Amino acid sequence: MAKKKIINKKSMAFLEKYLNNASPTGYEWDGQKIWMDYLKPYVDEFITDAYGTAVGVINPKAKYKVVIEGHADEISWYVNYITDNGLLYVIRNGGSDHQIAPSKWVNIHTKKGIVKGVFGWPAIHTRNSSKEEPPKLDNIFIDLGCSSKEEVEKLGVHVGCVITYPDEFHVLNKDKFVCRAIDNRAGGFMIAEVARLLHENKKELPFGLYITNSVQEEIGLRGAQMITETIKPNVAIITDVCHDTTTPMINKIKEGETKIGAGPVISYAPAVQNKLRERIIETAESKSIPFQRMAASRSTGTDTDAFAYSNGGVPSALISLPLRYMHTTVETVHKDDVENVIRLIYETLLTIKEGETFSYFD
Ligand SMILES: [Zn+2]
Repeated sequence: MAKKKIINKKSMAFLEKYLNNASPTGYEWDGQKIWMDYLKPYVDEFITDAYGTAVGVINPKAKYKVVIEGHADEISWYVNYITDNGLLYVIRNGGSDHQIAPSKWVNIHTKKGIVKGVFGWPAIHTRNSSKEEPPKLDNIFIDLGCSSKEEVEKLGVHVGCVITYPDEFHVLNKDKFVCRAIDNRAGGFMIAEVARLLHENKKELPFGLYITNSVQEEIGLRGAQMITETIKPNVAIITDVCHDTTTPMINKIKEGETKIGAGPVISYAPAVQNKLRERIIETAESKSIPFQRMAASRSTGTDTDAFAYSNGGVPSALISLPLRYMHTTVETVHKDDVENVIRLIYETLLTIKEGETFSYFD
C-alpha cells in the first residue's frame, strides 16, 4: 500500500529557500529566521540563545520535556591570510574538504555583502604528471580578480571573513535532492515537518516538545551542548545525516553498509539509550517504516552525544538520513528517506508517555 506523501508544495518551497540560504557555523541566524518563520504556526513559543540556537516549543508549561533535534550550521572556510598580490589562503570552519575546492566558485561574506571569488588551480599542462600535487589546505587559494592586498581590502574582504559555496538546490531524477548543506539543513526541515504534521493531525502531546535547531555542530556539537543545559530535557531524539557507503571507494568492512532509498538509519552506540532505541525500532516495525542499522564505536559524532552526556544523562537516540558525498557541494539524499525519517520521528513521539524514564531497572 502506498503511504500518503508528506512533503507538499509549501514544504518543498521552504526546503529550497532554507537550503539556498548560507548558514555557516557561527553565523546561523539568517537561516534560523527562515526556519522559525516556517515553524511558527505549529508551535506555542520559541526559545533562542546567545549563540543562535532556536527552539520551537509545544506545551511550554509541561514538566516532562522531549527534544527532537537537527543542526542549523554548514561547513565553510575562513579567510586566514591575504598575499601581497591579492590571493586568499583559508582555514576550515568545520570539516570542509580541500579535495573538492579547486575550480569552485565561492561567496565571501563581508559587511558590504557577498564578494565572489574562485578557488584557482594550476592548469594540467603546467603540472608534473609523474608527480601530481593533490589539493591540500596549504596549497588551495582563492582568486577575487584582484592584483593586490589593498584591492582585496577595498572589496571589504579581511582575515576572518567566512566563505561558503553558492551551490543551490536541485532535484536529480525526480526523487533525489542535491545541494550543499543538506547536512544538516535536512534535519531542521524534517523536525519542522514533524511539528507541522502534529498540528495538522491535531495531535495533543502529553509532554512539552522542544523542536531544536542547534548551531555549531560541525565544530564539535557546541550548540547542542549549550541548549541541552537550557532545556534540561527528559528524552532527546536527534537526526543528522550518515554516509551512503555503496558509492565507489568506500570500504564497507570499515564503514558498514547503509544506502540512500533504504530508509532511516538507526544507530547503536554507547551514547544511544537502548530502551529508547528499541522504542524507535518497534515503532518502525509496527508502522511498516523501512530502516537500516549502523554501529558507532565510542561516540556517534553527532549532537546525540551532547544531549546524552548532559544533565546527569538524558536518554537519547539517533535517527540518520543516509546521504551521498558528505561535505561536498553535491550532497545527495532520497526523498523517500526524508519522508520516512519524518514519519519515524512523528510515530515514535506518539508512543512516548508523560514521565517515562526508559530506565533499565524498572
Ligand atoms: Zn557535517
